[in-house]
Amino acid sequence: MTYDVIVIGGGAAGFFGAIQAAAFNPKLKILILEKSARCYKK
Ligand SMILES: Cc1cc2nc3c(=O)[nH]c(=O)nc-3n(C[C@H](O)[C@H](O)[C@H](O)COP(=O)(O)OP(=O)(O)OC[C@H]3O[C@@H](n4cnc5c(N)ncnc54)[C@H](O)[C@@H]3O)c2cc1C
Repeated sequence: MTYDVIVIGGGAAGFFGAIQAAAFNPKLKILILEKSARCYKK
């Protein structure tokens, strides 16, 4: 599998950055790599 965008860290910045990238181009294949068990937790 290949990706156009790989985001390291699924915190607020990574999560919303990935959403912005998808909004900019819905065809982008985007992967979020999060080291903890859950994304976007605080
Ligand atoms: C207790 C607490 C309460 C808060 N409450 C609020 C609030 O009510 N309102 C508000 O606006 N802000 C709040 N904040 C601040 C807000 O959480 C931060 O400003 C925001 O989370 C920063 O987002 P970030 O994506 O830059 O970093 P983070 O949220 O820290 O995200 C970074 C992510 O990257 C992951 N990561 C790190 N290294 C790696 C690696 N090598 N590989 C993969 N993943 C990795 C981490 O696990 C984490 O999920 C709070 C902060 C704390 C600590």
